[in-house]
Amino acid sequence: MVVVGGGPAGLQAALTLGRMHREVLLVDSGEYRNATAAHLHNFVTQDGTPPEEFRARARADLSAYSTVTLHQGRVTAIDGGAGDFSVAIDNEYAVRAAAVVLATGVRDSLPATPGLTALWGGVVAHCPYCHGHEFAGQPVGLLGLGPATQHLVGMLAPIAARLTVLTDGAEPDPELAAALAARGVAVRTHRVTEVSPSSLGAVVSLEDGTQEDLGGLFVSTTLSQSAPFAEDLGLRLLPSGCIEVDEFGATSVPGIYAAGDLAHRATLPMPMASVLVAAGAGQVTASGLNAQLASGALALSAEAPASRAG
Ligand SMILES: Cc1cc2nc3c(=O)[nH]c(=O)nc-3n(C[C@H](O)[C@H](O)[C@H](O)COP(=O)(O)OP(=O)(O)OC[C@H]3O[C@@H](n4cnc5c(N)ncnc54)[C@H](O)[C@@H]3O)c2cc1C
Repeated sequence: MVVVGGGPAGLQAALTLGRMHREVLLVDSGEYRNATAAHLHNFVTQDGTPPEEFRARARADLSAYSTVTLHQGRVTAIDGGAGDFSVAIDNEYAVRAAAVVLATGVRDSLPATPGLTALWGGVVAHCPYCHGHEFAGQPVGLLGLGPATQHLVGMLAPIAARLTVLTDGAEPDPELAAALAARGVAVRTHRVTEVSPSSLGAVVSLEDGTQEDLGGLFVSTTLSQSAPFAEDLGLRLLPSGCIEVDEFGATSVPGIYAAGDLAHRATLPMPMASVLVAAGAGQVTASGLNAQLASGALALSAEAPASRAG
């Protein structure tokens, strides 16, 4: 088997398959969604662990399993079908695999506001479960208006000392304006010209020359697949842009499985994106795949391979 991706989903999938003595090649290009975050949160036993430390521990766990091989590199193409995939690595060579687990994650595109990128994953965040508590008792801002504005306000209200919605030039509709006013949320409608670091967290500069000094600033990001394989393989996608999977991580193409932020079931509007949920999906997906292997429904086809990964 080839597992593409060395975030929590891929690492856990490899662990589950390794424990079942399946031949696994895990390929990791080293680009992780939470790369800019100093600590990960909301994972029991791991709350506050630096993400890199989490991944290093996971890789150390995998070293105990002789059928698991880690490769730092990039999968550049996937061809073939169930029982006989050809997975190209670093544009240099290919391995054959009965099945492939995609765990390549998603990427966030930030609003274009100058200064945001440098603060992303620290003072600038998107997920109250990941970052909200760290801003407790401080003034917190929400940049931009969107479908999630009221939801975010409701989630952050018990945590922040004061909430400010920075609409960046947009006017809230009367219903939203009334809801925000009822919660005591300040609304600033001038365009945001820049976000820069401050001793509190981030200073937001507005077009009218005023500033808001905040402990934390939430933004909505646009998600896209990190890797081209969903499109290349013609996998069925959901309106979220994620890969549709069944309860056991199977995609619409036999032999291709998907786990982590890049995939979810059709009953959800989007992935429940977290380290714990991604690792859980990795385990469930590897178990689903292993059940197929155990039943004999999926096996590497007979042709003698030059190089094989199970
Ligand atoms: C700023 C930020 C902070 C966050 N903080 C938290 C937090 O505190 N707690 C929490 O639970 N969640 C947090 N999250 C969410 C969490 O990071 C994700 O839910 C989680 O990383 C998803 O895991 P994954 O394995 O699906 O993807 P990722 O962790 O993104 O891993 C994707 C893997 O695929 C690899 N890859 C991609 N393309 C290729 C290719 N072609 N070949 C080989 N490898 C490839 C990458 O190199 C990487 O190894 C945060 C997210 C962000 C953006």
